[in-house]
Amino acid sequence: MDKRGMLPASEFVQSQKALLLSRYESIRSTGNMSKTLTDTLTRIEYALKRIENETYGVCCHCGDDIEKKRLAQIPETPFCVSCAEEREYQKNRNR
Ligand SMILES: [Zn+2]
Repeated sequence: MDKRGMLPASEFVQSQKALLLSRYESIRSTGNMSKTLTDTLTRIEYALKRIENETYGVCCHCGDDIEKKRLAQIPETPFCVSCAEEREYQKNRNR
């Protein structure tokens, strides 16, 4: 049993889903479709799809579990911390 105050996995995913859906709606309702927001919407859709496929919370790059703390901060992220950092690094290097 996890006694550190974390929700059971399924409840955690359900609360993340609710969060993603409300984020999605609030971004759409702004009507301001900048590139960043469109990208975020795409990532939210992808995250929702992964919830359906029960692969939510698994890094798309290395297959490791993504920390719940990270998911709570960025519910739509498809990458774990180290993969995300690596991608940032690559992006900055290519500039
Ligand atoms: Zn990873």
